[in-house]
Amino acid sequence: MHNKNSTLVESYSKLYDVRKIREDFPILKIMVHGKPLVYLDNAATTQKPQYVIDKTNNYYEKYNANIHRGVHALSQEATEAFESSRIIIKNFINALGKNEIIFTRGTTESINLVASSYGRKNIKEGDEIIISTMEHHSNIVPWQMLCAEKNAKLRIIPINEEGEIIFEEFEKMINEKTKFVSVVYASNSLGNVNPVKKIISLAHSYNIPVMLDAAQAVNHLKIDVQQLDCDFLAFSGHKLYGPTGIGILYGKVNHLEAMPPYQGGGDMISKVTFEETTYNELPHKFEAGTPDIAGAIGLGAAIEYIEKIGLENIAYHENILLEYATKAVSDLQGLRIIGTAKEKIGVLSFHFENVHPHDVGTFLDFEGVAIRTGHHCTQPLMRRFGVPATSRASFGMYNTIEEVDVLVNGLKKILEVFG
Ligand code: PMP
Repeated sequence: MHNKNSTLVESYSKLYDVRKIREDFPILKIMVHGKPLVYLDNAATTQKPQYVIDKTNNYYEKYNANIHRGVHALSQEATEAFESSRIIIKNFINALGKNEIIFTRGTTESINLVASSYGRKNIKEGDEIIISTMEHHSNIVPWQMLCAEKNAKLRIIPINEEGEIIFEEFEKMINEKTKFVSVVYASNSLGNVNPVKKIISLAHSYNIPVMLDAAQAVNHLKIDVQQLDCDFLAFSGHKLYGPTGIGILYGKVNHLEAMPPYQGGGDMISKVTFEETTYNELPHKFEAGTPDIAGAIGLGAAIEYIEKIGLENIAYHENILLEYATKAVSDLQGLRIIGTAKEKIGVLSFHFENVHPHDVGTFLDFEGVAIRTGHHCTQPLMRRFGVPATSRASFGMYNTIEEVDVLVNGLKKILEVFG
């Protein structure tokens, strides 16, 4: 353990029992290439606790049935579990009502839903949509597609060398042509937390709605959509210790009421004739077809699990890991940290002067360490920093200081081999 960090870490570890938490995650016991798994790819997806696995399996084993349609016992039980999850999620982000919580496949589908439904209805030729330089492709491409269809313009808020949004540039950019703003709450590539409250209040002073991509924020920061006053917010279950293939779109009820359906099919209808269809009420209007029932139940379970540990405790733990790791890698020769904002979540992106990120990732894999290397679905951001890719270690609630040491020792070995 590095001395300068040790006092803080030791006093803190008495309060947060990371060993006990690790026991809840069966996958953390596996070996990779003969070494204990050190899983530091949490920004790509998090591991799942036994509680989530059990709740999901339980649905398939004990009450598998389709929801909303059947009068039989299993269908009613499944419907109840599915709808209870919606309420857990509503409470988790403090939405006004459960009709503001739409189940989707994930962040990507949530953003596409808004771009397609709200966007097609409201964006006209010559309008402008604002996003930022650090957006994930899923918060770029849907807006680009909409702009191409409508002959509208996509405008990009620049960032500084630390990776922070230059707020003054946003102030200059916003005008009467701006019709929508969509920004990432916390960046998956840089880790920084954006000043979303300031962005929302400025946009609202022009009557412009704001969407937040909260894929990376939701498992680190307490989200209160009423306090944020965002118009839409998207996140994915799999980054929240829940299943893949399930996610959430939150939308203010007045927007959702006014928006046309995204997809047509079962469950989203009230009455169908060959001449005409009337649509179901919210949230079902946006949930066509059989949803990922097990996934929704698993997501509710993941939130219950997180709340038992406490989001603030998790965030505090991850911040210590980030601080510790940042200090430890700062001394490594030729290593540049990409994303040095003051306020960050547990993401550490870096680039070695003389070693390609792909080699870093492959080398570390043989040490049992899973990190992510590549463009992290943020190619324009990589271009902004003049790098083809970065290596990214991202921390979760179960990571330890010892695991950071394994990472750093691996990086030292890489320098010996390639340096
Ligand atoms: N936005 C951000 C900031 C992300 O980190 C991700 C996932 N890497 C996404 C959007 C897309 O999420 P999903 O693939 O779960 O739809």
